[in-house]
Amino acid sequence: MGMNDAFEPTLATAALRGAACRCPACGEGPLFRKFLKVKDRCDACGEALHHHRADDMPAYIVMSIVGHIVIGLLLWVETSFAPSLWIHIAMWVPLTIGLSLALLPPVKGSIVGVQWSLRMHGFGDRAVRAPAERLQRAA
Ligand SMILES: [Zn+2]
Repeated sequence: MGMNDAFEPTLATAALRGAACRCPACGEGPLFRKFLKVKDRCDACGEALHHHRADDMPAYIVMSIVGHIVIGLLLWVETSFAPSLWIHIAMWVPLTIGLSLALLPPVKGSIVGVQWSLRMHGFGDRAVRAPAERLQRAA
């Protein structure tokens, strides 16, 4: 039982805090200690954060988002301007890499926030309410 139990955030709040790369429990402490390395515990509230199992899911989500943006733009530029191949390469390769690197931390953070909120994996150790109850509150 921590000090945040009385004001436990909804699933959406926990996901948004994670997307902001903040602790899903308090929204204050940073979530990552390196680019994509989640801290073991929150600096601000002490919440255990090492239970997350985001695994490959952030990469799949980022690929879906970046793919839709880059392929859509690429097709529009090609049909509108038909630039030469080297211009395509010069535009889309850096955009794809840059967007992917920019989106990975917020996407991973939101997944950690969702896992925390749903008490998945070891996050359930602090369970006082059932996950189904929390999903209803989030709706
Ligand atoms: Zn915290």
